[in-house]
Amino acid sequence: MRWNPMTYTGWGRALIATGDVARPERKAALAEASKLAPAVGNKRSYGDACLNDGGKVVDMTRLDRVMSYDDATGIVEVEAGLAVGDLARLFGNKGWLPAVMPGTGFATIGGCIAMDVHGKNHHEAGSFGEHVLEITLIQNGKTRKVTPKDTALFKATVGGLGQTGIIAAAKLQMLACKGDVIMVTERRAEGWDEFIALLDASEASYSVGWIDATARSNDLGRGILEEAETGAGLIPAPKKSKTVPFNAPHFALSKPIVRMFNKAYYNRVPSSGRTSVKPISEFFFPLDKIHDWNKLYGKRGFHQFQCVVPIASADALRDMLELIADSGLASPLAVLKRMGSGRAGHMSFPMEGYTLAIDFPNRAAARHLIGRLEEMTEDAGGRLYLAKDALAKPKRMHAMYPELKDWQKAVAKADPEGVLTTDLIRRLNLRDV
Ligand SMILES: Cc1cc2nc3c(=O)[nH]c(=O)nc-3n(C[C@H](O)[C@H](O)[C@H](O)COP(=O)(O)OP(=O)(O)OC[C@H]3O[C@@H](n4cnc5c(N)ncnc54)[C@H](O)[C@@H]3O)c2cc1C
Repeated sequence: MRWNPMTYTGWGRALIATGDVARPERKAALAEASKLAPAVGNKRSYGDACLNDGGKVVDMTRLDRVMSYDDATGIVEVEAGLAVGDLARLFGNKGWLPAVMPGTGFATIGGCIAMDVHGKNHHEAGSFGEHVLEITLIQNGKTRKVTPKDTALFKATVGGLGQTGIIAAAKLQMLACKGDVIMVTERRAEGWDEFIALLDASEASYSVGWIDATARSNDLGRGILEEAETGAGLIPAPKKSKTVPFNAPHFALSKPIVRMFNKAYYNRVPSSGRTSVKPISEFFFPLDKIHDWNKLYGKRGFHQFQCVVPIASADALRDMLELIADSGLASPLAVLKRMGSGRAGHMSFPMEGYTLAIDFPNRAAARHLIGRLEEMTEDAGGRLYLAKDALAKPKRMHAMYPELKDWQKAVAKADPEGVLTTDLIRRLNLRDV
């Protein structure tokens, strides 16, 4: 296997790693690779989960074949480097969709399992790992099949940040759908209380909120709730993707521009709401049609803060939004969702409650603000999403992830030499017992 020296980043581009990267095309190469390095997917995690500075990583994206598919049951077996959006494209028009899809179709199946990702249907369908029937895991050169019955290893692998071995392939139960178009209803929420009430009352299969993180006083927490159901029919093909060709200057996301953009974005939905029919990719992966949109934050990159807090602590999110709006640092990308209780791994992010995700340009003031938001998350009994994090401190991890010790036990057994550690694991001392 060839190892090439590379400098690479996660999606946020704020943290950088240099090291050797292999991109094997054949599963046979993974036995050797698993003795040397952790696996990464499409590097769509924002921080350092997919970085191994000074070490090696195995890029799985060439291992992207569909191995078997049963039209009657919707059970599919795929290699771990397949992108979840490709899986949706392949089977949506046959009546099956990946049961859970994150907000980017570029996430690989391996990355979706290792982060136990959630989607716009978490309140109904739970997390990605809850639909995984079997994982082909390669540990220190040996291949084994892991099912939910192998409780300790399954729970340490799903949401397990790649620390139990290389996920080579997985058998997934897909979710029946009516077709590959989606009917989306958008409604305005005029403020925080109305937004929470709309989220609580929603009975849609898929729902997600965009929130105007620059709005203050009476408008605080205003935004747009999108609710959606799949359907069948013929509609125009998705629009062609565009590329951001260079790093944007720092004023591109300055306070007045973001405020102006957010106001226009909010007002584009009439106060009576509106319904439209779209290709599924436009609803599930709205940002994927602009390639390299992360360059809009300029050379220094950006951070996404994402937390979840229990239902009873919804007010903590309101307080966070107040702080964020006062800071003038937020970007237009801000999402509010209600989550159910579904999670499949010891280190899975979801908990029943509300999740808030907001992007900030990578500047000292924003890093300071995020530190304060992390503190507020812990005080509210919530947790941070490690797929997005680049800044948290080790001290918060035990409170936020109460099953950390169970995960550590399984990981120590699976990878005693620590060859699978990444920058995230080292920064947060996650494997230090
Ligand atoms: C625009 C955007 C929207 C997003 N929306 C959501 C969302 O709605 N919900 C959500 O949950 N997440 C969301 N994410 C986060 C993203 O889904 C996760 O970070 C996911 O893990 C990325 O997959 P990847 O293949 O790029 O993995 P990478 O970022 O490359 O790796 C992530 C982790 O998985 C491990 N890993 C990857 N492949 C393997 C493998 N084959 N074997 C073992 N370990 C492996 C890596 O070691 C690393 O720890 C979003 C990200 C973006 C950029």
